[in-house]
Amino acid sequence: QAPTSYYFTQPSEARLLLRKRNRFSNKGTFGHALLLAGSYGKIGAAVLSAKACLRAGVGLLTVQVPQCGYTILQTVVPEAMCSPDRHQNILTGIAPSDQAGHESLDPSDFSAIGIGPGIGKAPETLAMLKGLLPSLKKPIVVDADALNLLAENRELLNHIPPSSILTPHPKEFERLTKKWSNDYQKLDLLREFAKKNKIVVVLKGAFSAIATPDGDIHFNSTGNPGLSTGGTGDVLTGVLTALLAQGYDPVEAAVLGVYAHGLAGDQVASQRGSIGMTASDVIDALRWE
Ligand code: AMP
Ligand code: MG
Repeated sequence: QAPTSYYFTQPSEARLLLRKRNRFSNKGTFGHALLLAGSYGKIGAAVLSAKACLRAGVGLLTVQVPQCGYTILQTVVPEAMCSPDRHQNILTGIAPSDQAGHESLDPSDFSAIGIGPGIGKAPETLAMLKGLLPSLKKPIVVDADALNLLAENRELLNHIPPSSILTPHPKEFERLTKKWSNDYQKLDLLREFAKKNKIVVVLKGAFSAIATPDGDIHFNSTGNPGLSTGGTGDVLTGVLTALLAQGYDPVEAAVLGVYAHGLAGDQVASQRGSIGMTASDVIDALRWE
């Protein structure tokens, strides 16, 4: 068994990962992302991840939300295309082409897909995941209730495309694995879970730990307790989906995205303090150059 390498992401590493833009680029150069997010009462999560995805440089963005989120998305995030789900309240996934008035989405049309912010755990949402996951060929970002659905339907883990990025907070990670009694055990669980499923796992919190499919661990240096507030995780999902869509390798996307997200939080804290920071502040503070 290869020994684990540990890394600590600092400004110099992040700078090396960041790609410069070619003068002759166009929006097609930077990918087309699809976010599956939101449910009745949680359309805000879709809004936050969509805005963050745009602020992280994606070329084009489509957001699929339940019907109840359509007007909100189109009004609040005019840069994003919006594909309303046929269901009134719950996200049921890629709309079938026979549903009049709804365009049909083909996952292979997108350079990257992010699933989870605010989607809830309705049976239709689970059915959507079951239908969608086996058809995917590229790494995706999985967050929030999509992780909880995976934890409750473990066979779905086999259908997560290799090198996908999962972004659990500690409670979500505990549901995916088990309770740990100390930090060493937590890191062991993290490393083994990432290796076994051949995925990248971002265990979020202070010094977020990113485990790679090879079993290495990258600790993040940025971020502060101001980020401990609703919506900041949805922002991270948007950022990571944007980086995947732009062609970053999944480990690089995770390391760079988590760093930039924390740095944005630190920027907000330095300007107005950490108490009362909002996820929207973090989006506004995202900077890449
Ligand atoms: P979530 O729990 O899904 O909303 O995600 C919360 C986000 O805020 C994650 O990106 C965490 O890493 C970040 N975060 C929360 N608390 C802290 C903290 N004390 N220090 C640094 N980052 C934090
Ligand atoms: Mg979350």
